[in-house]
Amino acid sequence: MSDKVLSVIIPSYNEEENISRACSVIGDILNEAGIRHRLVFVDDGSKDGTWAAIEEMSKTDPNVTGLHFSRNFGKESAIYAGLAYSVDAACAVVIDCDLQHPPVKIVEMYRLWEEGYEVIEGVKSSRGKESVVNKLGAGVFYGLMSHSMKMDMKRASDFKLLDHKAVLALVNMREKNAFFRALSSWIGFKTTRVEFDVQERAAGESKWSLFKLAKYAVNNLTSFSTAPMKAIIFLGIIALIVSLVMGIIALVQKFTGTASAGFTTVIILQVFSLSVIMISLGILGHYIAKIYDEVKGRPKFIISKTCGEHKADKDEA
Ligand code: UDP
Ligand code: MG
Repeated sequence: MSDKVLSVIIPSYNEEENISRACSVIGDILNEAGIRHRLVFVDDGSKDGTWAAIEEMSKTDPNVTGLHFSRNFGKESAIYAGLAYSVDAACAVVIDCDLQHPPVKIVEMYRLWEEGYEVIEGVKSSRGKESVVNKLGAGVFYGLMSHSMKMDMKRASDFKLLDHKAVLALVNMREKNAFFRALSSWIGFKTTRVEFDVQERAAGESKWSLFKLAKYAVNNLTSFSTAPMKAIIFLGIIALIVSLVMGIIALVQKFTGTASAGFTTVIILQVFSLSVIMISLGILGHYIAKIYDEVKGRPKFIISKTCGEHKADKDEA
């Protein structure tokens, strides 16, 4: 293991305007604090000049390493690639490329690590500027997530510093659909938190569309909780009660000779039970798809190019 090197993992997707800024801001802060470090930029299959910018930086700055994905695999995969690449470092920190996570906090986290903490979680003291839809969606998602994880996820972020041991634990997890934010607390270890205010994006726009966010929420929720699957049983029970009541009404009507009026009941009953069945099948299908994904055993990411000094060390290893 390199002596006390901090590996800074920076997932970057279409961030050409932010690479050099992130590089100099984070580099300056860490140099000033006297923290030996390297910057691991993980280019998540960007379509703009992100990779060119990373390569450019790696030529002038020996601390800069770059990994380039063969396509866009998503932020989670980028984080895991960075972690896999950081197993030889003493500790690793994950930070956004757009500097929404204040880099000065890395120093604070590092000092706590020196004191013996193994997982230092960055916790949002405010969520920064967000649209109403995002706020609402995040509220529902993190509400459900916190409930199934039995811990407060609303203010959690991906901004975390992990000790070498914690990095190893995460890298050795075989789960394909790993949700970093939650797994990093699931692994345990001596944990503490550092509060930070979410900053404005340095440049460019958020890479999340509403659809992407919804997909992310459903995926992570289902990989951490089987509650939706179990909820099907309750839906079934409710459907049963409703149909029993309606059935009795229909029977009474039949015997009192007013049966033809029951046509509405039949339609309602049919539509209702059909929708419950469809929803249930959908939920089951989603879990089966997850099992299918895990069984296939495909890698979380594929690296097509690397750059920077540490490449040689890695190849030997
Ligand atoms: N990101 C990534 N892959 C993606 C989407 C985003 O690596 O598919 C990176 C992005 O470059 C940034 C971080 O994840 O460094 C957070 O993304 P963004 O700022 O778009 O999200 P937000 O801050 O709005 O949550
Ligand atoms: Mg951002």
